[in-house]
Amino acid sequence: MAPRVLITREPPGSSVDRISEVADVFLWDHDRPIDTDVLAREAASSVGIYCMLTDAIDRNLLMASPKLEVVSTMAVGVDNIDLDACRELGIVVGHTPGVLTESTADMAWALLMAASRRLEESINYVQQGRWEGWELDGIISRDVSGTTIGIVGMGRIGQAIARRAEGFDMEVLFTNRSRVSGAVGTQVDLEELLGRSDHVVIAVSLNEQTRGMISTQQFAMMKTTANLVNIARGPIVDTDALVAALVEGQIRCAGLDVTDPEPIPVDHPLVALPNCLIVPHLGSATDRTRVAMADLATDNLLAALSGADMPARTA
Ligand code: NAP
Repeated sequence: MAPRVLITREPPGSSVDRISEVADVFLWDHDRPIDTDVLAREAASSVGIYCMLTDAIDRNLLMASPKLEVVSTMAVGVDNIDLDACRELGIVVGHTPGVLTESTADMAWALLMAASRRLEESINYVQQGRWEGWELDGIISRDVSGTTIGIVGMGRIGQAIARRAEGFDMEVLFTNRSRVSGAVGTQVDLEELLGRSDHVVIAVSLNEQTRGMISTQQFAMMKTTANLVNIARGPIVDTDALVAALVEGQIRCAGLDVTDPEPIPVDHPLVALPNCLIVPHLGSATDRTRVAMADLATDNLLAALSGADMPARTA
């Protein structure tokens, strides 16, 4: 009998067809996250789950899914999956590192540029018909070239951001859990990075050590002219502390691809702040990258179902 596989959202490309060749597929065919009761019901009889970062693959769900052998997520971050429970239960987990690195670094760069050069405000200015002529002291912004960038988390994406910074003649500082050799820039501690950087970019993975790592105390260490960019995960930054820092002018501007909560409600104070740019978690959202992620997640799933090593296994 073909193994049962739950796919929690239709991926782009040929993934569903490829998986259907070897498995009995249940596909959540809606453009919104799978209902949690459907997720639990279908997981209970599945050998494999092909999931998205919006699905909570927690201990309760895993314990109630006795046939489960593989979880393959179409993301590099695995903070939505209880990896300890997977290890205990012998469930292998695949993810999609590498194929989304450049797109996500590009988004970090877009937010950094937009925040520094006041792009959102400038576009609104034209659209609102307020551009009446060239102004000497109109929308004056901050330089990117020749400034200092501080990258928190020097993994694949952090290093790709650093490579972009080189082209802008920036000084690159970074922090990381382990020592990083051969990367662009200088490894320093978080306190030094926060105190010296004109742009602080969060590219660290979300785990119990990084949850809330940027909060009131850290904002107080930053320059009042500094911008914060977060392309990693919302909960790494304490949202209430960020609102206070932006309102009180402890930092200059924030550019966020990710928020906590996510999605951020339209009446949340962060949304109304003129010095906060928010885009809806689009780091990997390019046509080429999303297909590459879907293909790698499919390769991982199919490899595990056939008893082979996954191309990108995380646990
Ligand atoms: P990665 O290569 O695994 O890099 C993560 C880095 O975080 C590693 O260098 C790791 O250090 C560091 N780190 C982990 N825990 C730490 C801690 N407690 N203290 C200090 N450093 C710590 O992953 P990646 O491919 O660069 O992706 C990074 C994150 O970006 C992902 O986890 C994901 O959440 C996010 N992401 C977001 C989007 C988006 O659409 N916005 C897209 C892709 C990824 P070690 O090497 O010492 O472990």
